[in-house]
Amino acid sequence: MIVNMSDNATEQQIEHIIQRIREAGFQPHVTRGTERTIVAAVGSGGRRHEIEALSVAPGVDNVVPIAQPFKLVSWQTRPDPSVIDVAGVRIGGPAVVVIAGPCSVESRDQLLETAQGVKQAGAAMLRGGAYKPRTSPYEFQGLGIEALKLLREASDVTGLPVVTEVMSTEDVDLICEYADMLQVGARNMQNFALLRRLATVKKPILLKRGPSALVKEWLLAAEYLLAGGNSQVVLCERGIKTFETATRNTIDLAAVALAKELSHLPVVADPSHGTGKPSLIGAVSRAAIAVGADGLMIEVHRCPERALSDGAQSLDIGQFKLVMQSLADPLRPIAASERPLHVHEA
Ligand code: PEP
Ligand code: MN
Repeated sequence: MIVNMSDNATEQQIEHIIQRIREAGFQPHVTRGTERTIVAAVGSGGRRHEIEALSVAPGVDNVVPIAQPFKLVSWQTRPDPSVIDVAGVRIGGPAVVVIAGPCSVESRDQLLETAQGVKQAGAAMLRGGAYKPRTSPYEFQGLGIEALKLLREASDVTGLPVVTEVMSTEDVDLICEYADMLQVGARNMQNFALLRRLATVKKPILLKRGPSALVKEWLLAAEYLLAGGNSQVVLCERGIKTFETATRNTIDLAAVALAKELSHLPVVADPSHGTGKPSLIGAVSRAAIAVGADGLMIEVHRCPERALSDGAQSLDIGQFKLVMQSLADPLRPIAASERPLHVHEA
């Protein structure tokens, strides 16, 4: 339920409503919007009729049910768009934020060269995997803490805030020491123990959509983070599994627009995992911006053919520059001469 306070509600009246929501067995979540204050009553097992009765309490405009199963993620509980600050880079504001870097951190030289390259090309954040979720146990699993240290160094040298994936609750504290933002990978979107733990950290979270998750399930996964106390969440569409095999995954750009229609959280698109094809990354990036994405996550490697993971979908630094140049006006037709020429096939 949502208690909409009237425009001239006093602090004391707001406090009273918060108190009554607690007494009725719900958790109060207060949003002070630009126009009015909203107090959401969320949780299970509370006494709804006591909240409904608050419609006649002083300072209350009305009391309405929350239409969606994801409550704190929906526009109803937060009428202004959320802008997530990642060490000074704002995701969800007027600028499209490009997060770029290698799939995995492989060495100091590899990371620093790539970080400097993507910065020069205009990326605002650096990515790089330290703990890698690989389909096979025989594939490169990431350098772990060594990679975290390198990511911190590359971030300090370039000034780009860094995001890296967390796969296990055990690694959360360590990763928080080094990274500016923690990524929940597609395969862990419904790892509820991990989501509950991440709800308690003071770092922003990049929540990827699971390869077979409904938009509703993705937003409910985000709800775990917000309900547990971390509202610094950015959603990431990275492609879903369909019958199509010509692309690695099917990037669902309608889901980007839909998530923005349903939620105040920023949404970024990952055309690298979403297509698996370097030649499509520019086109899909422009399309993602056109449908309202707040940012992009793109895999870049100084030498994709030598990459230890996802080389087949990674852009080299020159190709990334071309893509960045093409983003300035997503609706402008791209000339053949501007397209990345050297396509690394899987
Ligand atoms: C990644 O970002 O490198 C990654 C493993 O992504 P996803 O979880 O989307 O597969
Ligand atoms: Mn990858």
